[in-house]
Amino acid sequence: MTLRRGLFFGSAPAGVAGALEALDQPRQDMFCDRTRRKRSVDPSAAHVDGLAHLAQDLEPVLGAEVAVGIDLLERGEVVFLPAIRAEAGLGTLTEWRQTQPFLGLRATLPRWYAAQYAAEITAAMTEQGDPHPGLFEAIEQLLTTLCTSEEVAGLLVAFQRILLEQAGLWPDLTRCVTCDLPAPEGRAAFYSAQQGGLVCRICQPKTQETRKIGAAVLAALREDHCDAETLPAVLDLLDYTIAHVIGRPTSLRKSPLI
Ligand SMILES: [Zn+2]
Repeated sequence: MTLRRGLFFGSAPAGVAGALEALDQPRQDMFCDRTRRKRSVDPSAAHVDGLAHLAQDLEPVLGAEVAVGIDLLERGEVVFLPAIRAEAGLGTLTEWRQTQPFLGLRATLPRWYAAQYAAEITAAMTEQGDPHPGLFEAIEQLLTTLCTSEEVAGLLVAFQRILLEQAGLWPDLTRCVTCDLPAPEGRAAFYSAQQGGLVCRICQPKTQETRKIGAAVLAALREDHCDAETLPAVLDLLDYTIAHVIGRPTSLRKSPLI
């Protein structure tokens, strides 16, 4: 039996009876740190998918161990049996104990949208079972801060940066990534998410996908410091980069945050 502690990103009906109905749910997502004992923290942390299967014969265990239910965007400790066949992707959930409900996220829509977006891009950008303890701490800190914050865009930009850095996909903003020509300070530039950074004017026509970044936005990205004017554009550009990596638009496009 495997004991892990994680942030639950997916959806599951509340309560044991409801959880048993989750047999038909196609996928549940968790971002977990691997913890052998409930009180000892292992430095590894990994994204774990597919804990939808809940066996009827474990109901006595569930009755004793599971809290009132599993809700979106909360932290807790989970015990599960890994899937016997890896390709099935479903293990058997035997215990869930909520440790942090992040109730403040539910107080305003911007907080909720921001938290869901962070969960979405984290799950999409990480591989199952691949440890990212720094990212685990970052998203936990983000959710904690969001609970009491009225301003969410700046927090999201900081998290987008950590996510891209942890994935090794932070764009090169110092030179043309095609020909190595240094990019001057204080100037607008062409940017290619596909190429992973700036593209000079000579290389731009040969590059399949580019968009122009203003000088102020580029400076904000380089210096990791946004003001009220550059913040929306930086949020948009980093989301564009993440969307390119995961191969689809994110929910940020449909939310009122952008
Ligand atoms: Zn070039």
